[in-house]
Amino acid sequence: MNRYADIILPLAFGSSLTYLVPQTMAEHIKVGCRVRVPLGPHRHYTGIVSRLHEEAPRDYQCKPVDELVDVRPLLLKTQLDFWQWMADYYGCTLGEVMKAGLPAGLKRTENYRPKRCRYVRLGRSLAGVDTCPDPVRQSLSRAGRQQKALDYMITQTVLGHGAWTLPDFMAAAGCSRTVLDGLTDRGLLEIFEQEVSRLDKEGKSEPCQIQELSQAQQQAMDTIVCCWQSKQVCLLHGVTSSGKTEIYLHLIKDCLTRGQQVLLLLPEIALTTQITSRLKKVFADDMVVYHSKFSESQRAEIWNRLLEKDGYRLVVGVRSSVFLPFRQLGLVIVDEEHELSYKQQEPAPRYHARNAALMLARLHGAKTLLGSATPSIESYNRAVEGKYGLVELPIRYQNLPLPEILVEDIRELRRRKIMQGSFSPVLIDKMTEALSAGDQVMLFLNRRGYAPLLSCRNCGSSPRCPHCDVSLHYHKKTGRLQCHYCGWSQAVPTTCPSCGSRELSDRGIGTEKIEEELHELFPSVKLGRMDTDSMKSREDYEQAITDFEEHRTDILIGTQMLTKGLDFDRVRVVGILDADSMMNFPDFRAHERAFQLMTQVSGRAGRKDRRGTVILQTREANHPLIRAVVNHNYRQLYVEEMQQRHLFSYPPYSHLIDVWFKHRDALVVKNAAQCYASWVAPHLPEMVFGPFSPAISRVKGMCLQKLSLKIVPPLSLSKIKEYLCSARETLLKSPDYRSVLIFLDVDPV
Ligand code: ADP
Ligand code: ZN
Ligand code: ZN
Repeated sequence: MNRYADIILPLAFGSSLTYLVPQTMAEHIKVGCRVRVPLGPHRHYTGIVSRLHEEAPRDYQCKPVDELVDVRPLLLKTQLDFWQWMADYYGCTLGEVMKAGLPAGLKRTENYRPKRCRYVRLGRSLAGVDTCPDPVRQSLSRAGRQQKALDYMITQTVLGHGAWTLPDFMAAAGCSRTVLDGLTDRGLLEIFEQEVSRLDKEGKSEPCQIQELSQAQQQAMDTIVCCWQSKQVCLLHGVTSSGKTEIYLHLIKDCLTRGQQVLLLLPEIALTTQITSRLKKVFADDMVVYHSKFSESQRAEIWNRLLEKDGYRLVVGVRSSVFLPFRQLGLVIVDEEHELSYKQQEPAPRYHARNAALMLARLHGAKTLLGSATPSIESYNRAVEGKYGLVELPIRYQNLPLPEILVEDIRELRRRKIMQGSFSPVLIDKMTEALSAGDQVMLFLNRRGYAPLLSCRNCGSSPRCPHCDVSLHYHKKTGRLQCHYCGWSQAVPTTCPSCGSRELSDRGIGTEKIEEELHELFPSVKLGRMDTDSMKSREDYEQAITDFEEHRTDILIGTQMLTKGLDFDRVRVVGILDADSMMNFPDFRAHERAFQLMTQVSGRAGRKDRRGTVILQTREANHPLIRAVVNHNYRQLYVEEMQQRHLFSYPPYSHLIDVWFKHRDALVVKNAAQCYASWVAPHLPEMVFGPFSPAISRVKGMCLQKLSLKIVPPLSLSKIKEYLCSARETLLKSPDYRSVLIFLDVDPV
């Protein structure tokens, strides 16, 4: 009976391919091992065995596997299941999941090579001596330098320091390479090699005592544990500075004590030294940090360490750490679960790490904790409906007050000509006060606010889509406004639909202008800037934080980066310069997002001993959303959002899927999208919108078209995805559209 292996290859086509397992390999090959296989006449790939069986494929002649790369599986059973779920849910291939999931260091054929280092120690003949034996001393009578170096090594070995790197030894013993070689030639010293880690060794630090929880924190923790008895998932809604991180620490510790592993997911930008060093102090060598700035060999090494019995037990990482091999995962924590940056945008799989983490935990039978001061509407909805446990922690640690939020009606201030620049008089006063007291100021400006958007300079509102209740995108080139969701469009109106003013414009405030104004107001004050333009690397970002932390800068201006769980002590004032651009962002999540950003950035104001002040500048001072922010009222946001979502059938009342089409030729891509739409639309009545040109319709020379689907239960999401995928395959078979790229974005954000 012939044996066959299905192999996942790192390619974007179809399912896995079947190969013949040679007799000699049959005993050793296992599911999850890497193999080398031929593909086409000249190519060879490294793939992963996904299944072993005895069914010869009917429609093609099997080639044999060339080579078995691993003795033990590199991919665990749960990982294979996880990959399969991801491919199914996000409508991509296993190969694409493999590309994303496996570190490049493990994808290549040359095997990952452990790093080795050379050391020197006493020769075997001298093992156990505590002084140099006489015969040796005599033989060295004419080599004083060798004698000295040897004596040094003997003393050090007695003291317990018996192995040295060569440079270290030469430096410590004060000898040259020739002396060292002389000793090794005589067999008195010996050189040996050992595998060393590529990962930084922080040096063994004594694990720190973990802080005791406050009564409120303890109660929250007990409730979480209690929820887990009946539910897999629990949502911790704790205001900023309530000590969520402290609760995580205790839960992690408990889980590790039970001998299980923990994954703590953080948004990329939050993975600063602030939080990791706090965790490192407690968990020391049990913990590894996994982020995108690691080299491929470092990632491969972490992967391999995790496969070992005594490997890491706590992984603190960014979204891609959901792909790591866990043997005994007991707990997954997703911090700042509402963060949009958990969503992978490009390339496939376009997964949401929070949702993927939930599935990962489910496959392991592990518990999940979602934590946030401003939960996503979707997660909160699940909690309210009882699918997740819900734990509220509404007070800050030590009962510190939440910041005071003052609303500045800039529409009124401008009308009365009291405010000319970007800062209201109250903001200027508060900044002056803070700076002269030696305190710091943070100014928040939303980068996403620069979406192509037309807004009224008088009332702050933006024209909205009559069908979708989202702001319309402004397409400068065509001079039209278009809906991002249904494709509806109109010519640019001459007056504001809300107030009749003629002052419609697409201009916002820019960071540079802000800097200029600040220089005029406070010439001697040092400014720091933190946004995607000024941050080229993680180091820049950490530098900006450290500068502010150590008070080398007085005012920090930034975009959403400012909101990511940073903990500063001397921030007395936070200014939110332009709330309107966030509220009017052309997205159905605009209000949710605006609430989250404003609440999170407010949370940076005044910690420890003093209440902070937030100045919120808006043209829509009476907007219910502004009231919700001012009153720290998440529930109000939730209730109002749910009404809107219901009215327009947005998530959580529906699932959205975007189908994207990409091609160099604008006409080809348009026709392909039209053709696809004309097939699927009749089968999915009232669900398909478009195709239309997205706001950014050309990226890197590729023209884009987009089709949007809104799927309302009880329709089955998986059936529809299947249908969309098969329509994609049919379209790609047509000679006209063979080179069009088509992909799904399931649950886009
Ligand atoms: P959150 O993550 O909810 O915003 P943090 O966990 O960062 O809050 O806590 C805010 C601040 O309060 C931190 O400086 C933290 O060290 C301190 N803190 C919170 N809980 C405790 C505790 N139980 N013991 C000592 N310090 C605490
Ligand atoms: Zn207006
Ligand atoms: Zn619309």
